[in-house]
Order: sequence, then structure tokens, then C-alpha cells
Amino acid sequence: MHRLYENEDIVIFWNSDRCFHAKRCVTGSPKTFDINRKPWIQLGHADNKEVWQAISQCPSGALSCLYRHGIDITIDLEGQKSLALDGDKVIGECDYDISDGVWNIYHTEVSPDYKGKGIAKRLVYKVIEASERQKVKLEASCSYAKKVIEE
Ligand code: SF4
Repeated sequence: MHRLYENEDIVIFWNSDRCFHAKRCVTGSPKTFDINRKPWIQLGHADNKEVWQAISQCPSGALSCLYRHGIDITIDLEGQKSLALDGDKVIGECDYDISDGVWNIYHTEVSPDYKGKGIAKRLVYKVIEASERQKVKLEASCSYAKKVIEE
């Protein structure tokens, strides 16, 4: 399972397939990571520095963290894409088509002015998260998306 958690400043990526429950995240920021709560990751209970340090202790790579850079990521299920928005301006997208109920990501692109901020990864994660919530199979012919899915 893949999930994104965000506050105004940071984005947390969580891949449960990689988590082997060493619980270092829980020890590092118990108010943020609480396995007896749903959702188990909640931002806003500790400062970002504490959260970032806790994530850096994750031995499995299940957790990672990036700055948000003020960019919103949304999913457009009808349009079959996730979108990256700087205010009202679309600065990136991740597109998928649907065949026999299987989603296939075929294109991921971020405007050159916004490269190096982890936006492409957030776009792909948003589609992965949506496919898991819809309980559909996801594939990628886009090589970048494939890499993120297999991470
Ligand atoms: S530190 Fe990483 S591996 Fe350990 S419980 Fe947290 S997410 Fe899972």
C-alpha cells in the first residue's frame, strides 16, 4: 500500500510493502506515527524537524520525505491523470489510460522550471494511491513511473 501524507511544508511517502515494523519512526515521533490510530501517520502533532529526523531513521526505505514547495497534487479520475498545481497553474501531470480495468501510466511530465523538487514522484504516488483505493491493477509503460512503482 502506498500513501501520501502532507502538511503545508512537507510530504511523506509511505510504502507498506517495504515496512518491516522496526518502529523507529514511532520512537522518533510517537505523536506522528501511531500504529494504533487511523490513519497511523498524522502530521501536525510534532514539528517538521522531529518528523524528518524520525523518517531518516527508517531502516527499510518504507518512509521518505520531501519539501512540498507550495505545490498541490490532485487526482482527476475522470481525466485519468494526477495534476501538479502552483496556485491555478498546472505545472505537471501523470497520465494513465484504462484497458480491461487495468490502469497504465504512459506519461509523466513536470515543467522544466520545477524540476528537482520531487514533484514527478508525488504525481506518480497520487495515481498509485488512487488505483489502490479503487482496487484496480496498475501498470506503467512510462519508465519513470515504473521505477517509482517498483521502488
Ligand atoms: S521505521 Fe520504517 S520500517 Fe520501521 S515501522 Fe516505521 S516505516 Fe516501518
